Amino acid sequence: MALRHIREIGDEILTKKCREVKAMTPHLKELISDMLETMYDAEGVGLAAPQVGVLRQIVVIDIGEGPIVLVNPRIIEQDGEQEGNEGCLSVPGKAGVVVRPNHVVAEGLNENMEPVRIEGEELLARAICHELDHLQGVMYTSKVKGELFDTASEEDSEEDSEAYEEEQ
Ligand code: ZN
Repeated sequence: MALRHIREIGDEILTKKCREVKAMTPHLKELISDMLETMYDAEGVGLAAPQVGVLRQIVVIDIGEGPIVLVNPRIIEQDGEQEGNEGCLSVPGKAGVVVRPNHVVAEGLNENMEPVRIEGEELLARAICHELDHLQGVMYTSKVKGELFDTASEEDSEEDSEAYEEEQ
């Protein structure tokens, strides 16, 4: 396992669509392990393969309830609406308000290419949407209502600082 370099906004790879994973390989398993380690090291709640420079349909998520690995994920159901702050490990120090569905069901494969179905509300629903967008080359910054704001300068405000730690 090794930490991978997280690509930042402005890097063209973050705007490209990812290819489907046809077969799991030792190389891709190592990528998944590295993505989890990199996400935890950066204290993010999610990470998509293009964020570490690999254009494959792989995301990892952990909102504090244990790691989720999704290969070739698709959202199959979504409903409700939530509006809240969102951040991204590829856009360090920034956050913005994004409207997302409040409830999402996604299907995909795990690291053993076994089918998995993930159902999430609130933060998990937000993280699933955010990470799956990365696989389409879509950054949350294109969906922000209003302006991005600087999270560091908000630390002394009355607002809940936890909201800014949810970088994906
Ligand atoms: Zn992100």
